[in-house]
Amino acid sequence: MGSAAASPLSGAKRPRLTFLGTGYLGATYAICFAEMGYRVIGFDVDVDKIARLANGTLPFHEPGLENLLRRNLAAGRLQFSTNLAQIAEFGDVHFICVGTPQQADGMGADLSYVEAAVTGLSQNLTRKALIVGKSTVPVGTVEWVEQLVSKNAPADLGIEVAWSPEFLQEGFAVDDVLRPNRIVIGVKTEWAKDMLHATHKGVLDLAAAEGRTVPLMVTDFATAELVKVAANAFLATKISFINAMAEVCEVAGGDVVQLAQAIGYDPRIGNRFLQAGVGFGGGCLPKDIRAFQARAQELGVGDALRFLHEVDLINLRCRPRVMRLAAELLGRRSGPAGPDLSGTRIAVLGATFKPNSDDVRDAPALAVAALLAKSGSDVRVYDPQGMENARMVQPKLTYAPTLNDAIRSADLVCVLTEWAEFRESDPYVLGTLVASRRVVDGRNCLDSARWMKAGWQYRGMGRS
Ligand code: NAD
Repeated sequence: MGSAAASPLSGAKRPRLTFLGTGYLGATYAICFAEMGYRVIGFDVDVDKIARLANGTLPFHEPGLENLLRRNLAAGRLQFSTNLAQIAEFGDVHFICVGTPQQADGMGADLSYVEAAVTGLSQNLTRKALIVGKSTVPVGTVEWVEQLVSKNAPADLGIEVAWSPEFLQEGFAVDDVLRPNRIVIGVKTEWAKDMLHATHKGVLDLAAAEGRTVPLMVTDFATAELVKVAANAFLATKISFINAMAEVCEVAGGDVVQLAQAIGYDPRIGNRFLQAGVGFGGGCLPKDIRAFQARAQELGVGDALRFLHEVDLINLRCRPRVMRLAAELLGRRSGPAGPDLSGTRIAVLGATFKPNSDDVRDAPALAVAALLAKSGSDVRVYDPQGMENARMVQPKLTYAPTLNDAIRSADLVCVLTEWAEFRESDPYVLGTLVASRRVVDGRNCLDSARWMKAGWQYRGMGRS
C-alpha cells in the first residue's frame, strides 16, 4: 500500500490494539495494523526482542516487513513494551499471539504461554476490553480462557473473549495480513462482533479500495478454533498425499511431477500444494496435526483423525528417502542402520522449512543435513537467511558462508529448500566447483533437463 498517511482508515473510529507475543504472528500483525492506521502496542516477555523491535530491527526475516516497522515507529502509531499495566490501560482489543508449541511429553498443544499471557493481562485490566485469541489452539480453549479471565479480572469490567484464527504464511505474511483471503471471528455477543468488525475495518476498506471483497465469517467459538486446525490438516494431507504418490512412483518407475500436473488439471483437485519433496515442517503444520489428533482423542473421536497419524508418518519418511537417494547416487549401500557415507562430502542447500523465511523450526532440510552427517558424511550447509537460527538448532553441523563455499569439492549436492538462489543457479558454473556432478533435488525445484545437460547425475523425489 502507499504511504501510512494515506491509510484508508483515516478519520474512522479505530479501537486501540495490543498484540501479546511479538513473534512471527504478533509482530507482523502489530506492524501491519499500524500501517493501516491503528494505534498499536506490541508486548512480549522477551526483553531483547522488544528492544530490537522498538529500535526498528525485525528479529526474523520477512520480506517487506522491516520497512513498515520503521515507517510506523516513526509515525508514532506503533510502540513496543514489556509493561503489562501499560498495554492493559491502552488497549480496547488485546490479541493473544503467543506460541502454542507441542508439549514436551506428548502430542497435545502446550497452552502454558496462553495461560500466562491471559492471566497477566487480566490481572492488569482496569476497563472493559475484548481479548481475542489468534494463536492456534485446541477446540475448547476459548471457554478455558473465559474462565481464566473471570478468575483474574475484576468482574465489573465485563471483559469479553473472542477467537480469530490466523492463516498467514511466512514469506508472504505482509500481504496475507493486509489482504487476507478470509477473516474468521468466533464470538458470543454483538458487542464482540462489532469490536472485531471495527478492528478489521482497515482490511475491509483496503479491499474495497482495491475492488476486492474479503469474506468475514462470524462463527461460534468451536468452529473458529476448528477452522484453523482443519485447514492445516487439509494442507498437510495434500502434501503427504503427493509424497505418498512419490514413494510409489519411485518403485514403479513413474514420474510424480507429471502425475501431479496431470491430476492437478482437474479443478476439483487443483495443482497447488502438490509438489512432492522432502515434506512439510515449520512451527505450524507438524505440531498442529499432532495437537488436533490429541484433542480428538480427548473428545472421544480419535478414529476420525487417525489418518493424520499416517499423514505425519508419510511426511517423516521423506527424510530418510532423501538419504537413500543420496547413498544411491554416491554408490553406497544402505544397511538396516542406514547408509555409511563416511569419506564423502555433501553440500546441503537450504536449512529453513520454506524459502523467504529464516524459520528452521522442524525444518526437513536441517533434519536431513543432521542425518547425512550422522551417517559419516562431511556436510556443509548453506542457507540464504536461516544460518543463524540453524546454528542454534544444529550447532554441530558445519556451515558455509556462501553457496559456492558449500558446494566446493562436494561429491553430492542436496537441494532441500527451494530458494530462488538455488533454483536460478547455473548448473554449468556450479559444475566447475564440485568434485562430482551429482545432485539430489529434494524439492523437485530444479530444471532437471538443464542440470543433466550440464553433466549432472540428477535425482528428484518420486522421479524415475
Ligand atoms: P513465535 O514463537 O515466533 O512467537 C511467540 C512469541 O510469544 C515469542 O516472542 C515469545 O517470547 C512470546 N511470549 C511467550 N510467552 C509470552 C507471554 N506470557 N506474554 C507475551 N508474550 C509471550 O510463534 P509464532 O510463529 O508467532 O506463532 C504464534 C502462534 O500463532 C502459534 O499458536 C502458531 O501456531 C500461530 N500461527 C503462526 C503462524 C506463523 O506463520 N508463524 C501462522 C498462523 C498461526
